[in-house]
Amino acid sequence: MKILILNSGSSSVKYQLLDMTEQTVLASGLVERIGEATSKVKHVRRPGTDQEHSHSEAMSIRDHATGLTRVVELITGPETGVIASVSEIQGIGHRIVHGGEAFSAPTLVDEAVIQGIKDQIPLAPLHNPGGLAGIETALRLMPGVPNVAVFDTAFHQTMSPEAYRYAIPKELYSELKIRRYGFHGTSHFYVAKQCARILKKSLQETSCITVHLGNGCSMAAVKHGKCIDTSMGLTPLAGLVMGTRSGDVDPALHAFLADNKGLSIREIDTLLNKESGLKGMCGHNDMRDIHDLIAQGDTDAQVALRVFCRRVTQYIGQYLALLDGTDAICFTAGIGENDATVRRLSCATLAGLGAILDTQRNADALRGQVTEISTPASLIKIFIIPTNEELEIATQTMEVLGAKEAERESGTH
Ligand code: AMP
Repeated sequence: MKILILNSGSSSVKYQLLDMTEQTVLASGLVERIGEATSKVKHVRRPGTDQEHSHSEAMSIRDHATGLTRVVELITGPETGVIASVSEIQGIGHRIVHGGEAFSAPTLVDEAVIQGIKDQIPLAPLHNPGGLAGIETALRLMPGVPNVAVFDTAFHQTMSPEAYRYAIPKELYSELKIRRYGFHGTSHFYVAKQCARILKKSLQETSCITVHLGNGCSMAAVKHGKCIDTSMGLTPLAGLVMGTRSGDVDPALHAFLADNKGLSIREIDTLLNKESGLKGMCGHNDMRDIHDLIAQGDTDAQVALRVFCRRVTQYIGQYLALLDGTDAICFTAGIGENDATVRRLSCATLAGLGAILDTQRNADALRGQVTEISTPASLIKIFIIPTNEELEIATQTMEVLGAKEAERESGTH
């Protein structure tokens, strides 16, 4: 069964074509700078195999429809292709950033679902329009292929009001749906399921803290398989320190900056989302550059790393308190999977809470592999679990299509 995964941003489309029978990636790629004078396309056929073949081009791509048309040409073309025609694709899974309160599970796309995603645009004005463009283009270009929307917020919809409500006037919740939503849900869910598998337990029996540290960073407290709290909020700006996002700051900061620097609300929002975090503190948003700077004696980079890790520790502490018993702490994503120093600093003071890092195992961990990095005596296990959001979107797409098929069969019998 071949499933196409589309992650459509405001000016980009990331894609992966997966063979779910073989559990392999047939092709992956990225269309960038859609709408600009020169757009870029990168396409890789059979990545990670001896048949790997990369293809890059620069051309004018005015909109998502043109970009996706090019993707279809590349995956079916003579040099770059991996399938003869799009009729081989059995389903298309779309990553949609915001499902609001309307969507708590992956959903087969129809007119009502498209309207439902449109209704969430005020909550994700930069992200949901790209996702919608991806869906509408896929429906037009590949008629007859079912589309499934997989929401970044869905996994967190199990949070209770004490986790998701803010202490602000209640009308702001009833009128504008201002509350904590959380993001990266597909990754947190995938990692929690992998954690259960490693522990040889069912997901319903598993409680863990999932720590997603990539360019964006977030954490989730998972109790008996369900999310009970997460660090991102109404928007992805809240919580942990990130590459360019501040994470938590004093909420009075906006007024202070407006009064003392004359900045507009828009400018402050851009400052906190694009110019803050690691980049704001030391000029670099990639953790690898920060380690290089520290090696050269850069004290700003040193402080940035410490602030980043301290925030992770603080959230782990919060979630240990909320979970009232947890099986594991799971590090994932670019930094979480690869950076032994970040994991060591983040776990340095957790021994008293029952999570003891084995510094040798942590330092020796191999890239891309599930690894236990706690000591045998640790009451709470600490794992590195590589995330795979595309595979999880494809799995959820298959589950929705399988359920639909079963529904149809039971209706006809
Ligand atoms: P992601 O969003 O999961 O793709 O993660 C991207 C981020 O992971 C980059 O911005 C880097 O900060 C970080 N990263 C990737 N590789 C490494 C590495 N080997 N060591 C430390 N950080 C890394």
